[in-house]
Amino acid sequence: MSVFKILYWAAMVLEIIIRAPFQKSWKLTPKTKQRAMRTENTVLTLLFVGSFLLPLVYSLTSWLGFADYRLPVWMGWLGVFFLAASVYVFWRAHHDLKSNWTPTLEIFEGHSLITDGIYGSVRHPMYLSQWLMVIAQLLQNRIAGLSGLVVFIPFYLLRVPAEEKMMEETFGEAYLEYMQQTGRVIPKV
Ligand code: SAH
Repeated sequence: MSVFKILYWAAMVLEIIIRAPFQKSWKLTPKTKQRAMRTENTVLTLLFVGSFLLPLVYSLTSWLGFADYRLPVWMGWLGVFFLAASVYVFWRAHHDLKSNWTPTLEIFEGHSLITDGIYGSVRHPMYLSQWLMVIAQLLQNRIAGLSGLVVFIPFYLLRVPAEEKMMEETFGEAYLEYMQQTGRVIPKV
């Protein structure tokens, strides 16, 4: 396996480790509002296939070999930069969102609006981290390289407006004000 594939999977494993304790505490916390989109299961399954399963098949087998192409080595290192940025942003977002993380759109009992740390400049750092990851996934294969981007774009376009609507309904004026001060994924200075 090439050094780039190894680093790609190292980043994936790190993100799974960062997420694990949040997953555990989310299961235990009572929810007051659940807004899972009707398309949620489909979109999440596609996300799993496109950004995990296909790269895994590409890394471990030669089944997708017919779609291979070559990129210059410097682009591989650029990918590693995106990977590192993705893991860093992913870690910062979990650290700052604390126990307010939920996998689908939900509000907990005693949910607080986080507006500091990385959430002081962007409203969706976890999705920013996923953008960085799907860019890093532009591997040397037309299928496994592009599949992450192809499945993430609809997820992002459906999820963000629904999430912001739920947050606005829950936190009202405070969220509208917070929206003025931050960018969605591009930091507002
Ligand atoms: N969109 C954010 C959070 C993703 S997790 C990001 O990309 O980092 C999705 C859940 O996070 C939502 O169901 C909501 O309950 C919660 N959430 C999103 N933004 C929040 C904020 N600023 N403060 C507290 N909880 C938030």
